[in-house]
Formats: sequence, C-alpha cells, structure tokens
Amino acid sequence: MTELTFVGLGLVEPLRRALKDEGYIQPTPIQVQAIPSILLGRDLMGVAQTGTGKTAAFALPIMQRLAEAKRHAAGRTARVLILAPTRELTAQIGDSFKTYGKYMNQTQAVVFGGVGQNHQVHAMHRGVDVLIATPGRLLDLINQGYIRLDGIEIFVLDEADRMLDMGFIHDIRKIISKLPSKRQSLFFSATMPREIISLSHTILTNPVKVSVTPESPTVELIDQKVMFVDRYDKGKLLSKILKDKATKKTLVFTRTKHVANKVALNLTKEHIPAQAIHGNKSQSARTQALKAFKTGRTPVLVATDIAARGIDVDNITHVINYEMPDEPDSYVHRIGRTARAGASGVAISFCEAQERDCLRDIERHIRQQIRVVVDHPYHSHEAMNATGRGARRPPRGMSKPQQHGGRQRKYPQKKTAHRRPRRQTYR
Ligand code: AMP
Repeated sequence: MTELTFVGLGLVEPLRRALKDEGYIQPTPIQVQAIPSILLGRDLMGVAQTGTGKTAAFALPIMQRLAEAKRHAAGRTARVLILAPTRELTAQIGDSFKTYGKYMNQTQAVVFGGVGQNHQVHAMHRGVDVLIATPGRLLDLINQGYIRLDGIEIFVLDEADRMLDMGFIHDIRKIISKLPSKRQSLFFSATMPREIISLSHTILTNPVKVSVTPESPTVELIDQKVMFVDRYDKGKLLSKILKDKATKKTLVFTRTKHVANKVALNLTKEHIPAQAIHGNKSQSARTQALKAFKTGRTPVLVATDIAARGIDVDNITHVINYEMPDEPDSYVHRIGRTARAGASGVAISFCEAQERDCLRDIERHIRQQIRVVVDHPYHSHEAMNATGRGARRPPRGMSKPQQHGGRQRKYPQKKTAHRRPRRQTYR
C-alpha cells in the first residue's frame, strides 16, 4: 500500500495539523480504507471495533466535507447526526471531534439521557454542525420540538450491534424515518449478525464495505504478573502497590459494583485518592470520576467490566485485577487498557485460592504463563497451591482429567492474534 500518510488520504492541512498535535504519524488500516470513500460522498459499511481508530476514520472526512460545503445549520437542526449507544461513547466522540477539529471552527452538541435536558436544548437552539446523540434522548427532544432532523446531510450509526443488544432498534428506526432520504450514511458495527446486515440495508445505498480484523491488545507489550493472596489481604496488598510511585495511573478491576465501592472507599481512607465507576452511579458522578482520572487528579479508578467498556483513557500505567474476571476474554480486554499505542504497561492479577480456575483458563486462552511474584508481604501459599474449585471437588462420577477436558472445550484452541507476529495497535 502506498497511501500510508494523511496527506495521501486527501485530508486538508488544518486536520493534518491537529493530528500532528496528537502525535498521530500514520493512519490506521480502517482510516486508510474509509477516509477516501467518505470524502467522495459514498455510503460506507465498516466492520470495526473500538480501538481500531474508527472514530477518526469517520470524524476526519466528515469535518472536511462540512468545510468543503460550508453553510450554517438552521436553528434546532444539525448537518451531521451521529448515533451512539452510550453516554460515554457520545462524550468521547464529541471530544474526538473537538480534538481533530480544533483548527476547523465547527460547532457541535452532545445529547444523552440521565442528565437534565436544558443545557442540551440550549446547545441546539441555534443549530450545530455536528450532533452526537444517544437514541432515547434524541427522540425525546425531537418529540418536544427542540430538534429537527430535516437538515441532516451525513448520518452515522456507530456500534450498531451494541445498539441492538441494548434494545434501541425501534428508536433507531423512528430516527431513520425522520432523516432526509438524500444523505450520506455511514454504518459501523464490530460484528455482523443477520439482523445487523438487514438493518444496514435499510440505511445504506450502494455502500463501500470496509473491514478490519479486531486487533487484540498487544499482550506482549504488557508486563503481566500474578500475586497469590488471600481474599482478606487483597485490600492491604492493593494499598501497598498503590503507594509505590511507579503506579501513576491505575485502573483497578472488580467483578461487582459492591466490591468496586468498597475498594474505592478503603483506598480513600488510606489517603489514596480513588473513585469507583459502575452502572449504579449517576451520570454526573461517572463523568466527574472519569474526568478526574483522565486529568490525573484521581490516580486510581476502580471499575467493573461493564463500566469500563468504551472508556478511552491514555497513559494508564497499571491495571490491577483485584478480582479475576470470569471470562478469559475479559482479562485480555482489561489488561489491554494499559500499554496502548505502543507504550508499555503493567498488569497485576490478585489470585485467591477460589480463583485458580480462572487463572488457568486465562493462561490457556493467552497461551502464556503469567509470571508469579511471591516476593510480597501477603503471599498466600494456600492460594498458590490450590488446584482450583473443580479439581478439588469433582462432581460425582467424573474424574479430574475428564473435567479438565470439559473446561478446555469451553475455550477451543483457536488461533488467536497472540500467535501472529506483533502488529501495531492503536489503543
Ligand atoms: P477508536 O477506535 O476511535 O476508539 O480509537 C482508539 C484510540 O486510537 C484513540 O485513543 C485514538 O486517539 C487513537 N488513534 C486513532 N487514530 C490513530 C492514529 N492514526 N495514530 C495513533 N493513534 C490513533
């Protein structure tokens, strides 16, 4: 491929300058594939996950097209509508537009539920270039007459599969019915089940199709360690690690909201600034916690897997698995929060006796043994030597080897990205 620069993709200077400020040197594969077609006004179907650089893949050409045909949106309307499934994602897309568009002078509004609507209504009053919204609140504001979609020139549906999972299909159909039929549409989804394909047919006209294989986080770049520790010592071990100066920005994972709260509270008592983020928190509490973590004011964020989905924070130095994840895949996603964009990072897993099974499954999944650190004050021999729940108490009539055979089948020996030569990732 020869076109591996942003100039080669046809992007104008103000956008390239913003990318340079961000330290982007090369476009990612999805950007290489998508940007030229979007600039030409084509509809696009993109199979890509978060972490591939997909936001810039649509944001950059959209801003350029807006600038090429400059005009003011009428009051209460927008020129571009981007639909995304969660409040966090809409906020992140909004931030990306601000970052990439800092030399472009375009306006935007972000609209999502869970907070008062006045501010959003006000932001839309005079019309904006780009409106980024979750479906429910957008429909609410449309029904109240605060937003109209008749001026939309470009429509983006992001994370379509997650939208469907979250039950937004009816809202999406209603929104689509309000869009002008003459428009450019871009459709992104990480997976392409049949329903998603049929939804895409109702939105796109003769689309260009682009697809990037999911980049698994570069586990090779992450210094992975496991510490065996009894459950009641985990809090003390965590404080000890966090008091070390090397742990600058640390994401701590728990399995439940309850434990997340407890861990954050205990750290605060120990004068280690920490906040918890999970589904039970109000939107403003989540936004505030995330902001404090991003800016480094709160160096420790305690999160459940669900709450951490879609959080986009750079420079996380440490990921700590306070509780092991149930699914080996979650482990890869958790630790992938550090060592992004080629940086190195540390992932430490606290493993108690009951979690030996999880650890074994994870090691099988990543086809790698995680280094054991015994040199810490809370090391538990019992946890280290435990052979896992299943092995200690095999169900009646089933021998140990059979039982392990069963677990192995749960995670078939598929070819994973970890075996492939290392590739650049963008998260
Ligand atoms: P996304 O898939 O849009 O969530 O992007 C994932 C991360 O990759 C974000 O933190 C972006 O800032 C970053 N990113 C996007 N494009 C590039 C690029 N060309 N070079 C380096 N980082 C990038």
